[in-house]
Amino acid sequence: MKGELCIGVDLGGSNLRFALVDRQGRVLARSAEPTLPAAGLESLMTRLLSGVERLRQQAARMGAGTVALAVGVPGLVCSDGVVRASVNVPVLEGVPLARELAGATGMPVAALNDANACALGEKNYGAGRDYRSLIALTLGTGVGSGLILDGKLWTGVDGAAGEFGHIPVEPEGRPCGCGGRGCLEQYASAGAIARGGDDAAAVACRAQQGDAAALALFAEAGRYLGIAAAGVVNLLNLEAVILCGGVARSFDLLVPALRRELEARTFPVSGGRVRVEQGILGDDAGVLGAAVAAFGALL
Ligand SMILES: [Zn+2]
Repeated sequence: MKGELCIGVDLGGSNLRFALVDRQGRVLARSAEPTLPAAGLESLMTRLLSGVERLRQQAARMGAGTVALAVGVPGLVCSDGVVRASVNVPVLEGVPLARELAGATGMPVAALNDANACALGEKNYGAGRDYRSLIALTLGTGVGSGLILDGKLWTGVDGAAGEFGHIPVEPEGRPCGCGGRGCLEQYASAGAIARGGDDAAAVACRAQQGDAAALALFAEAGRYLGIAAAGVVNLLNLEAVILCGGVARSFDLLVPALRRELEARTFPVSGGRVRVEQGILGDDAGVLGAAVAAFGALL
């Protein structure tokens, strides 16, 4: 036996990623396919199970056993493994995902929010390895986060903690999909940066070439991120703020304004020590963090 392996699954609105992971965080095999949320729940569950089975067989060929599984989901996942809400994959709403997958695979299964999975990934195998208390921000279509306090994921009493994107940064600001107004997500997500018309990657490209309007959009996003992060750092005295997700590829464009706000709005003790870092796991943060949760499900 080569030891015990886990399967981490990142169930995104667009892509369904599977990885076979060992305890050191090495990805030994992987696969990916489109999520196709419109194809319905039965199709999604079938493809989830066949993806898991494929990696199990690969593990067996390596002489290893697959002992647990976890799935990161874009939405609110309660501590009982039931998906309560998912804007991007609505067919999962109300589904006891952990229980159903455990019944079908015979393994311990955990289900968790995708931003929480990214935070666990960076904490255990990435930019957060040296810290015990951090927040990992996932900057993509929306803005999510995962909070690690004293080495443990903080999910809140219902599993709904970490909604960094819905921290209000403008009292009378832009309306938000959550029903609120002036939420950070309306100023710092890919959609907010792209509100001029094209996508955030194209804006990043223009900013890298020195385009003033494009640079201003990233500076604005960084400024609002810094305002929200300052509140969290004042509250929790964290060691690090780690930026993950597609928009975080433009780390250098965001960070000067972010750091400026953070320094201006925090107490010297907490603001002076907090590090702002770029995640290093890229697209693997989700599957690796799910694997961490899977190993945790064994306990
Ligand atoms: Zn909101």
